[in-house]
Amino acid sequence: MFYCCVFFFRFAVIYLGKKGGCMPISQVWIEEGCTACGICEEICPEVFELGDREEAIVKPDANLNAYEEEIKEAAENCPVDVISIQES
Ligand code: SF4
Repeated sequence: MFYCCVFFFRFAVIYLGKKGGCMPISQVWIEEGCTACGICEEICPEVFELGDREEAIVKPDANLNAYEEEIKEAAENCPVDVISIQES
């Protein structure tokens, strides 16, 4: 019994560690105040796009589930903290 608990605990730690312990991202958007620094696009060009715009956008066809870690990294590194994430 003890070994089963240890195995389950280790599995849970590994699984949740890979998944970030969070629910999947269902929506990403950029609030007002983007300074067009381009960091989000540098980190995750598959989801964020700046181009010649004055504000970054979230690509409408972006596969959010495929880039969860990068999206979170972009949000954490946004200097004005305007990248919002909804998890469900
Ligand atoms: S990192 Fe933030 S401020 Fe910079 S372009 Fe992206 S959303 Fe805008």
